Amino acid sequence: MIKPDGLLSHDPDLGAGPGGRSPQTPQEVDQPPRDACGVFGVWSPGEDVAKLAYYGLYSLQHRGQESAGIAVSDGSRIVVYKDMGLVAQVFNESVLNTLHGYIAVGHCRYSTTGSSVWENAQPTFRATPSASLALGHNGNLINTLELAGLLGGREALAGRATSDTDVLTALFAAGGAERGGSWPSERPAPSDPASPSGHPGVEAAALAVLPLVRGAFSLVFMDEQTLYAARDPQGFRPLVIGRLADGWVVASETAALDIVGAAFVREVQPGELVAIDERGVRSHVFAAAAPRGCLFEYVYLARPDTTISGRSVQATRVEVGRRLAAEHPADADLVIPVPESSTSAAIGYAQASGIPYGQGLVKNSYVGRTFIQPSQTIRERGIRLKYNPLREAIAGQRLVVVDDSIVRGNTQRAIVAMLREFGAREVHVRISSPPVTWPCFFGIDFASRAELIAGSLSVEEIRQSIGADSLGFVSLDGLIESTTLPATRLCRACFDGDYPVTVAEDEKGKHLLESVVAAVSPTAGVAVGSAAGLAAESAAAAAAASGGRPAGP
Ligand code: SF4
Repeated sequence: MIKPDGLLSHDPDLGAGPGGRSPQTPQEVDQPPRDACGVFGVWSPGEDVAKLAYYGLYSLQHRGQESAGIAVSDGSRIVVYKDMGLVAQVFNESVLNTLHGYIAVGHCRYSTTGSSVWENAQPTFRATPSASLALGHNGNLINTLELAGLLGGREALAGRATSDTDVLTALFAAGGAERGGSWPSERPAPSDPASPSGHPGVEAAALAVLPLVRGAFSLVFMDEQTLYAARDPQGFRPLVIGRLADGWVVASETAALDIVGAAFVREVQPGELVAIDERGVRSHVFAAAAPRGCLFEYVYLARPDTTISGRSVQATRVEVGRRLAAEHPADADLVIPVPESSTSAAIGYAQASGIPYGQGLVKNSYVGRTFIQPSQTIRERGIRLKYNPLREAIAGQRLVVVDDSIVRGNTQRAIVAMLREFGAREVHVRISSPPVTWPCFFGIDFASRAELIAGSLSVEEIRQSIGADSLGFVSLDGLIESTTLPATRLCRACFDGDYPVTVAEDEKGKHLLESVVAAVSPTAGVAVGSAAGLAAESAAAAAAASGGRPAGP
């Protein structure tokens, strides 16, 4: 199977600009910044929770397109079904009909730590003597090696999973299994009086482990009877709670609540663990809140119909467009967005400038996610596979083209050249975020600093590189003010290098666990976990129906 990963190395000559060549595959065209996943959880006796999770994930598809999975529990056992691909590729009616229960956890992944392989798809699964555990994670940890060290090596990393999430799941399970070895001696094995077996339960284990975890994590996880949600002290990634008529939902974005008919209740607070079961909703504070929500969620990552910290993403983007027009006016005939994420900012630019707004590019949203290797003829289409220009709209026009960000510059270079090819008289590029000059370690897969075009070139040099008549970025102050949040409550590190949490050099890198697993796991390729066998049993039927693969050995 061909992976849709499409990781790029920065090639300044790539593109259709002067002296450059056209991007050769849909994957070669600059990938936009990619998020580290969407999470969804539901606790609702009487509901078809698998289908609720499916539609919840469907609405969060933009947050991760590499793999998808759903875990369900009927109160006595957990079944996990996951596979590579989009939500609609992984699940069908017959698969969903095998997933029975009243608790579900769903996940769609884009990889940040660990390769894009089936073993790293989520929800992750682990068994303990007292319970089983399925977990979905949005974010990226920055002390993964340190946490893996707590596990004591071989047994904890005996599978082929190499994600920070798998280490975290193993730690939760280890806490609940009274794992000895390197479990911190100053931190006694946690106890949970609610655990019927006498073993510490998942809730107590999570409360013991979460204060040790650094970085970005919006978690949705479950044991057989309880749904949990937890958010890191900075609250880098969003996580919200919603109310159903007879149950509860937790999700990465409020838009997912809307889609499944849940009413927004509140955000999971930074540093909070929430537990939901037949006893009701319990809240634990495991760390003091130090809010630094991701500014890039407003720019690109979140859906426009989502609300973050009380502020509509759509309203923020329109306001950014208005400020962009004030900061970087242009003498032009038409404002067009690079669809879809730039549409709101382009509307704002048009409103503030008085220049008419129009559609000039038609996007095929999923061409970059195809699993089918393009033929040579298709390859030669380059960026045209993703964006097709509307010749009548742009020929002879002086265009303002609004985009949300520039990472390597390849996409903008190709778009400018394509618009000129289709008759645009002038192309003025306006960007609704400041230059991205630093990498992100908190769940967004930006390139390394050396690969970021703004890391080494001035605005004028970038303009020349992409071949635009003019180029303007909204200011950082303008972007922050558009969110209506104080700058002190936002992470903006990719724009100014001011990281809210220090990241050790040896904790950087997407594949930092691969070598660790190879070293400790001579049985790599053999999945572990006794209860996973139970999980596999009924999921196998689903797999047979769909061609997908259940979790377990
Ligand atoms: S570095 Fe940028 S993308 Fe990453 S969390 Fe901070 S603001 Fe968001």
